[in-house]
Amino acid sequence: MAVRACGLIIYRRLQSAPFAKVTDGIEYLLLQTSYGTHHWTPPKGHVDPGEDDLQTAFRETQEEAGLQASQLTLIDGYKKELHYPAHGKPKTVVYWLAEVKDCNTEIKLSEEHQAFQWLKLEDACRYAEYEDMQATLKEAHEFLCSKK
Ligand code: AMP
Repeated sequence: MAVRACGLIIYRRLQSAPFAKVTDGIEYLLLQTSYGTHHWTPPKGHVDPGEDDLQTAFRETQEEAGLQASQLTLIDGYKKELHYPAHGKPKTVVYWLAEVKDCNTEIKLSEEHQAFQWLKLEDACRYAEYEDMQATLKEAHEFLCSKK
């Protein structure tokens, strides 16, 4: 059976200039792992026994980025599942999309990550490196564009 993990694609909206497109000020939060190849990823982690997927996504975001559920707005209608091999086993990762209510909220990393970045879509895709993650970020961005 596949290892199951859940997480949140976190974004913030910077104050944009008048007449700028609403999505111009969007930045995505990526964390750089302190393990393995030090890849960049949204906060996510394994589902604990008795937890549902969304609870895991919020708990992992709190543990890995220091963001409480009360500091986030979960965006209705977006959910994405990725499947990839990790350490020789199939892994499924479910992501939701959430906005940080205050764009200046402090990010507090755990020992699992060594750095974080708020990145515009293009840079986020470059950092994310994996094609499925890049496609997920683009899809999330298009979803946000279509809402406004
Ligand atoms: P992670 O799932 O981020 O803890 O990473 C576990 C392993 O899977 C690491 O070797 C990563 O380099 C690899 N990995 C992470 N994300 C992806 C992805 N989206 N597609 C393929 N491999 C990945």
